[in-house]
Amino acid sequence: MPDPARAEIVVDLAAIRRNVRRLRELTGVAMIAVVKADGYGHGMVEAGRAAREGGAEWLATATIDEALALRAAGDTGRVLCWLAVPGEDYVAPIAAGIDVTAYSVAELDEIAAAVRATGGGRARVQVKLDTGLSRGGAPRSAWREVLEHARAGERDGLWTVTGLWSHFACSDEPEHPANDAQETAFREALALADEIGLRPELRHLANSAAAVLRPSARFDAVRCGIAIYGLDPAPGRTHDLGLTPAMTARARLAMVKDLDAGASVSYGHIWTADHATTVGLVPAGYGDGIPRHASGRDHGAEVGIGGKRRPIRGRVCMDQFVVDLDGDRPATGDEVVLFGAPAAGVPTAQDWAEACGTINYEIVTRIGGRMHRRHVDTDAGSER
Ligand SMILES: *Cc1c(COP(=O)(O)O)cnc(C)c1O
Repeated sequence: MPDPARAEIVVDLAAIRRNVRRLRELTGVAMIAVVKADGYGHGMVEAGRAAREGGAEWLATATIDEALALRAAGDTGRVLCWLAVPGEDYVAPIAAGIDVTAYSVAELDEIAAAVRATGGGRARVQVKLDTGLSRGGAPRSAWREVLEHARAGERDGLWTVTGLWSHFACSDEPEHPANDAQETAFREALALADEIGLRPELRHLANSAAAVLRPSARFDAVRCGIAIYGLDPAPGRTHDLGLTPAMTARARLAMVKDLDAGASVSYGHIWTADHATTVGLVPAGYGDGIPRHASGRDHGAEVGIGGKRRPIRGRVCMDQFVVDLDGDRPATGDEVVLFGAPAAGVPTAQDWAEACGTINYEIVTRIGGRMHRRHVDTDAGSER
């Protein structure tokens, strides 16, 4: 592997491919691989391609623009998106055969107008029901109206209702009572839709955590995001899932120096050495998506250098941070692994999440900025 000039993200597409394959085996239903937000920081197009190779029947994004970018990159399979604003251009996604999601009658009316404007074929529309997350989706009080409107548009030849779906609030806490309540509500919504005459090809409720932890919620497909990137969707709640983190974030040590006892480090001097030590300068900071919450008032997040874990000392700055080398003197230019696969013995995105008081999702999705991102394929050359 060539040395990164300064700091880089390396994404192993073989890991994504294997994770998708593993999750499909585990769940036994179709896979909707979620590649929104630039594939959780892994690269949307590349991650989507690897997910397809691993068997994903569907890709999903939040926005219409993301879905169209998949088409522009050559993806011809089923694609679902689910987050629109009033005045959205539905003509392009309909023409591209993308499944759009409606939460309301107003959205269905906008989609109808787009179908009529093009005079083209039917749109593919999924309806999202709010079963208790209280975020997007039709609230229970509007289920009948939205579903009847969806059925009417289908009868009028405007669209096919291809899916009905909902989303959990607490799937990473499997014992939380909201999970049972939401699944029950979803079954009630499906029964109502059936009574109204809708026969969607795809009913789906589970994200990664529910896909793994709640077999009853798998229905026709599962929408897996975080798990396809190899991160644990419910840390501490899952047995070993056999997934491999696809992302490694690394940098090169920019400087090594001695620190006297009593010296304080970085902005605000929030950490002071209580004994003489050595420190290293890592040339990446919050301008590269390193959370400032990783700062070390006491300890901070850790990085791996030469097989050892080194804590961040003092504040993470825009472009750089300082780690404690505890008297050792690795060479400048040596590799610093911020996080990667646990098999490599380095800190993980989950370790960073815990150090920063957040979730692994945010660590991988927000890292980037000026860092180069490189895709590798550790299965290349072997049979896929
Ligand atoms: C992001 C998202 C997912 C994927 O969730 P994970 O927990 O990453 O598997 C699934 N469904 C919806 C609606 C989402 O917004």
